[in-house]
Amino acid sequence: MSNPLLETHELPPFSKIKAEHVEPAIDTLIEQNKQAIETLLDSLDQPTWDTLVRPLEVLDDKLSQAWSPVSHMNAVVNGPELREAYNNCLPKLSEYSTALGQNERLYQAYQAIADSDAFAALDFAQKKVINNALRDFKLSGISLAEDKRKEFADLKKALSELTSQYSDNVLDATQAWNKLITDDADLKGVPENALALAKQAAEEKELEGFVITLDFPSYFPVMTYCENRELRKEVYEAFVTRASDQGPFAGKFDNSEKMNEIIKLRHQLANLLDFDNYGERSLVTKMAETPEQVIGFLDELAEKSRPVALQELAELKAFVLKEHKLEDLDAWDIGYYSEKLRVHKYDVSQETLRPYFPVNTTVKGMFEVVNRLYGIEIVQNDTVDTWHDDVIYYEIKKDQATVGSFYLDLYARANKRGGAWMDECKVRRSKEGDGIQLPVAYLVCNFTTPVGNNPALLTHDEVTTLFHEFGHGLHHMLTKINYSDVSGINGVAWDAVELPSQFMENWCWEEEALAFVSGHFETSKPLPKDLLEKMQAAKNFQSGMQMVRQLEFSLFDFQMHSQYNLDSPKPIQQVLDEVRDRVAVIKPPAFNRFQHGFSHIFAGGYAAGYYSYKWAEVLSADAFSLFEEQGIFNRETGQLFLESILEMGGSKEPMELFVNFRGRKPEIDALLRHTGINEAV
Ligand code: ZN
Repeated sequence: MSNPLLETHELPPFSKIKAEHVEPAIDTLIEQNKQAIETLLDSLDQPTWDTLVRPLEVLDDKLSQAWSPVSHMNAVVNGPELREAYNNCLPKLSEYSTALGQNERLYQAYQAIADSDAFAALDFAQKKVINNALRDFKLSGISLAEDKRKEFADLKKALSELTSQYSDNVLDATQAWNKLITDDADLKGVPENALALAKQAAEEKELEGFVITLDFPSYFPVMTYCENRELRKEVYEAFVTRASDQGPFAGKFDNSEKMNEIIKLRHQLANLLDFDNYGERSLVTKMAETPEQVIGFLDELAEKSRPVALQELAELKAFVLKEHKLEDLDAWDIGYYSEKLRVHKYDVSQETLRPYFPVNTTVKGMFEVVNRLYGIEIVQNDTVDTWHDDVIYYEIKKDQATVGSFYLDLYARANKRGGAWMDECKVRRSKEGDGIQLPVAYLVCNFTTPVGNNPALLTHDEVTTLFHEFGHGLHHMLTKINYSDVSGINGVAWDAVELPSQFMENWCWEEEALAFVSGHFETSKPLPKDLLEKMQAAKNFQSGMQMVRQLEFSLFDFQMHSQYNLDSPKPIQQVLDEVRDRVAVIKPPAFNRFQHGFSHIFAGGYAAGYYSYKWAEVLSADAFSLFEEQGIFNRETGQLFLESILEMGGSKEPMELFVNFRGRKPEIDALLRHTGINEAV
């Protein structure tokens, strides 16, 4: 039986790929790769780039090129057979990559290249590939002595069990609570779609009325719109005490002990690898260098934002007193009255903006933006096989030559995962013999499909999302690095990877760009200036309060991980309370146990890394500020950004790349200005 996933293609033959091809192809490729790696290692005396790293890259690329369309189709044209085949492959792939990371001979072979005289003759990107590989081997505990290695494996295992129990508790606690409302007067203010959801939830339980749950699409509208204060309080309390010693299920799904254990074991794991604390361990793969730098960065932002947040809170209180005759605001009132104030101050709904963003105008406008910045042309190619009729394939041309390409899949439909993302289809690398394998990306959104004869009309939020994902895509497609481990988005530090994407969003807020990115679908007129100004003001509504809240989470996460004392650990609640005393403007009630459901850091990949959100915002705002100084379409500045950041991928330290572009290290001023925080002080 021929299997399209085992054949070589320029681009994936999407229409030919069927669920039954998936497992046989992945099994075959994993088996072939394993054997090829063993044979390779057996044959090497003195490993070199050409005899070790290149052959490994070829093997890896073969597997990626088979897996990429499968995992992509699982997300955009899902079905029961494909899902099953996909899920069956996941453990095999993860076992394969874990085994590679633990392969002692492979580690020694990389080390031998690093120690050889030939290492000095490699170029900077090749050196980075080797150094990254050695770093990752070390982080997997491979260079530890035998007894330490056992300890390391035990810690890893215990941690993975604890974090998974932590998430299970959050999930169980979230699902355990719900509330039936039989009188719809109790839900006054809640929008139609949320009511429909609550009604549906009741029907599923064969109940009359509305069921409120702690899932975000149910919880959020109640907290933001529901007039019934008692109900808001009840829902709030249930939500912020999930998986804790407080609230309606006090002690039942309690994560308290698991959290203490998780932090302790992470600290011990870091110690085993010779780091002083888990904060240091986390930063090895990030752009930020030291814990002091991260905390200093967050403190500086807090110092600048807190006065503004206090002002915003005072404004909210004054508004509530005047318009709603309420003296004291409780935690369950903040979101509700903030929404009232927002509507009162800026009456711009996303719906009024839609007619100005017909999809063809906006996409064409976005291509024009990057044409002006980087001198690239984007050309549609209708001859390529895709997974759905909505999908358009584009090629990026520079000086007439194709440098990369992408599939654009804009609309929501059944069996397509929600959200928006960019993913890689093929990575840029030099091919066997000569020639370059060009990068190919998937850009996926979930916009509303066109209705009747009208074109699809986007909200401004959707336009921003499109620019964001396109920014990730350009990082992947405009790279000039020819080694797959550090080309495009590969090998880029976690806290720097959002730079190119957030950076692109800036053009959605500029009059000069909106002149052609927008155009009313009936009159072709660009977005009116007064509407733009309203949008800009609304964008910064309560930005100080949002900033200090994010800083509270980031500082809590980082201090807890980097200032841990094994002999006398500070209680987690105390760490959080101290951070709040320093930066927060709203003190939650004593029963609040938000941290017991903070899965990002206790169970997800953001441990000692939550600060990355703010870090990347600073980078993108500061990078854009050079365009503000020199013209947002200044071709030289565009070229400089292209050459220093986009083309370089993960081939150099992100700080070095940033300094090459900006002429200095990142500063926080531009972000504060863009969020309106500087002006307000
Ligand atoms: Zn992103």
